[in-house]
Amino acid sequence: MKHNFGAGPGILPHEVLKQAAEGVLNFNGTGLSILEISHRSAEFESVLNEAVSLVKELFNVPEGYSVLFMQGGASSQFALAPYNLLPDGGKAAYVETGVWANKALKEAKLFGQVEIVATAKESNYTYIPKDFTIPKDAAYIHITSNNTIYGTQMKEFFKSPIPVVCDMSSDIFSRKVDVSDFGLIYAGAQKNMGPAGVTLVIIKNDILGKVDRKIPSMFNYQVQIEGGSMYNTPPCFAIYVSMLTLRWLKAKGGVAGIEQENDAKAKALYTEIDRNPLFKGVCAVEDRSHMNVCFVVENPEHEKPFLKYCDEKGIVGIKGHRSVGGFRASIYNALPITSVHVLIDAMQEFQENNK
Ligand SMILES: *Cc1c(COP(=O)(O)O)cnc(C)c1O
Repeated sequence: MKHNFGAGPGILPHEVLKQAAEGVLNFNGTGLSILEISHRSAEFESVLNEAVSLVKELFNVPEGYSVLFMQGGASSQFALAPYNLLPDGGKAAYVETGVWANKALKEAKLFGQVEIVATAKESNYTYIPKDFTIPKDAAYIHITSNNTIYGTQMKEFFKSPIPVVCDMSSDIFSRKVDVSDFGLIYAGAQKNMGPAGVTLVIIKNDILGKVDRKIPSMFNYQVQIEGGSMYNTPPCFAIYVSMLTLRWLKAKGGVAGIEQENDAKAKALYTEIDRNPLFKGVCAVEDRSHMNVCFVVENPEHEKPFLKYCDEKGIVGIKGHRSVGGFRASIYNALPITSVHVLIDAMQEFQENNK
């Protein structure tokens, strides 16, 4: 058995994979595959409708917001947000908390001015900057809720006089969030809610319509809203598997239920990192991510042997991102706490064998 700590595409619940496999062969007893039915069929429409309803229910999405399933990954949203929201000559505010935040602001520069209101670059992004002023004359402020590569996470959001745009790719549905704090939330599905190929967008309708530029239909949120995510052929299979994952999440007690489990998993693993003299954490303790746990070895000579040791135990995907090094254990929603304990046991045994 493998324990999948990969950062993304990440682990999916085993029962979801079984249902998805069945749907590929014979979808809901239709005698057809989910891969070969029309996206306009009643069967697929019911999948899309259920996916939208589950998002609204699980995240308590208020009136006045639209839920979209789009393509092109979170990386497309880096550009679509300013394309749709930042007027020519206008300004957008960005909080720079890592590689993804940086890629997002780079795209915004194509459309207008960017004001970096806070950055943690000087520390190689080991903490979340907290004291920043929101410029009231900016079109929006962009944040990244969880920094997948560095292992930091914003623990609190804020009320803002301008729309808050948030990249939630790596912690969407991992904890309770007040959607009314945000103008736009987007997330590539492949970290915590489904397979690669679909991107969730939750957008407050009244933040649209404030730019004059011409926007091609596929990249226009308003067109996507009017088309109900079906302006063109949507990524049917990725939406189906996301819907199954959301059903699974609901059955587990929803976001509140999973948040408790995620807290317990993170606490167990960070406790071991802090206790074990061979390892140490890399981020400010108060900003530690409950999704991507980054740590290093005190003695660099232990790095390769520990990886090999983990490999033998079926622990996969824990090598850190090349810009941080060390280890990164991604403990997304679908990763059971039993897998976290297998990793903790491996760390303890490794310590015993390296006295
Ligand atoms: C993985 C990731 C992305 C990139 O997502 P794609 O869907 O591959 O474009 C963006 N932001 C964050 C926070 C991520 O973790």
